[in-house]
Amino acid sequence: MPVSVPAWLESLEEAFADSGHQLYIVGGAIRDELLGRKVGEWDLATDAKPSEVEKILRQKTKKIGLIGKRFGTVTADLNGNAIEITTFRGESYEEHSRKPTVEFGNSINEDLSRRDFTINAIAYDLRFNRVIDNHNGEQDLKARVIRAVGDPESRFREDPLRMLRAIRFAVTLDFEIEHNTFQAINLERERFAILSVERISQEMDKILLSPKPSRGIDLLVESGLINYILPELIPCIDLEFDPAEHKDIYSHILQVLDQTPAKLELRWCALLHDIAKPLTRQKIGGEYHFLGHEVVGARLTKDILRRLKYGNEFIDYLSKLVYLHQRIPNNDGHWTDGAVRRFVRDANQTLEDLFTFAEADSTGGNERKLEKYKQMRAELRDRIVELEKQAEIAKIHSPLDGEELMKIFHRPAGVWIKPIKEHLLQLVLDNQLDQEDKLAAEQIARQLMRQ
Ligand code: ATP
Ligand code: MG
Repeated sequence: MPVSVPAWLESLEEAFADSGHQLYIVGGAIRDELLGRKVGEWDLATDAKPSEVEKILRQKTKKIGLIGKRFGTVTADLNGNAIEITTFRGESYEEHSRKPTVEFGNSINEDLSRRDFTINAIAYDLRFNRVIDNHNGEQDLKARVIRAVGDPESRFREDPLRMLRAIRFAVTLDFEIEHNTFQAINLERERFAILSVERISQEMDKILLSPKPSRGIDLLVESGLINYILPELIPCIDLEFDPAEHKDIYSHILQVLDQTPAKLELRWCALLHDIAKPLTRQKIGGEYHFLGHEVVGARLTKDILRRLKYGNEFIDYLSKLVYLHQRIPNNDGHWTDGAVRRFVRDANQTLEDLFTFAEADSTGGNERKLEKYKQMRAELRDRIVELEKQAEIAKIHSPLDGEELMKIFHRPAGVWIKPIKEHLLQLVLDNQLDQEDKLAAEQIARQLMRQ
């Protein structure tokens, strides 16, 4: 397969050669190039040590990243191209370490043999313009196979993250995992427990953002890795909820996941939205009910994402999505204007995602019901637009703020303020009080304080 090398990269190679060093395209960059996919980040390998790499790069650009320098990686931006140059690896792993310890290797061959999968262990020699493929990676690329370099069990034991990466590459590239490689995940999966969670979440995000994330989740379940990442999903498997329409909750979750646009917040929401159904299931009058599953689910979402070390903002956003995910499909078409306004205020910045998610969450075999829900969503949308025209809902507030109430009642700040402000706000939302009418608001507040 031909490799087309951009001019800026040829010139970078010359700079390395001038300093007496080698430079190769490796990893995802050469893999994607050979597959005819767009190369995102240019993975490069060299015999030069990181400080030497830094020195050569300094002649070319100011945008240099040194976060990974002590692990052998220097990143840079070369005229808009993201590059990642890694010094040859000869890593050694310690049995119980959570992260690989780094040792530099002596040759590209040694470096390639330390890489995870054959399709990631190809190099392109930029000096002599030839592919180096000691592990038959090109053959596996053609056959669309993920195969460990060397003995899969020992490679997974060295770095258990590779087990998850096998699944990640299978779903992002739509490849099959070679039989022995997949078997080895089953055998070595207990090693997964030693990993640091940050590395796990990164791969999970990539799985969730792939074109068919359900396959990734299925592979996690099949390999048993799910036990170490999201054990809460296991009780959803084979748990019946409405047998006429869905096989079980797990398959509903997977269907929603695939129907959700590839946005991280929405995909995580799809995965977690019904996670509390097993905990809340009750059979009432021959039908299953899951009262409060969105409340328990929102709490579980927080616990799970905290455990996986996501940022607070992301966690809050997700738990809000899960908390509110039922509100739109549950719309019975008879919301009062006040209820619509309250929903918009509650949803706030999640509103768009809630609508998108509600559409994805609409599953099952009953076409008439699905059509009805679709109409309800459209109606609700129209009403929101209408009400937003009438008033900028998000700006609605109590006519009197805390300062003003303190002045009126000659009282210091305290818990007494909140219920009054809340009551006044509710009246404004229900159109029973004008937001600008401070006098009427004062009267109401005085009545409340007298009670
Ligand atoms: P992406 O397209 O997502 O960047 P990638 O294959 O480039 O995929 P990276 O995580 O960027 O993946 O890693 C670059 C290369 O480094 C890989 O292709 C692989 O050769 C090697 N590599 C990365 N992680 C490991 C690992 N845990 N064990 C062995 N080799 C690895
Ligand atoms: Mg990469």
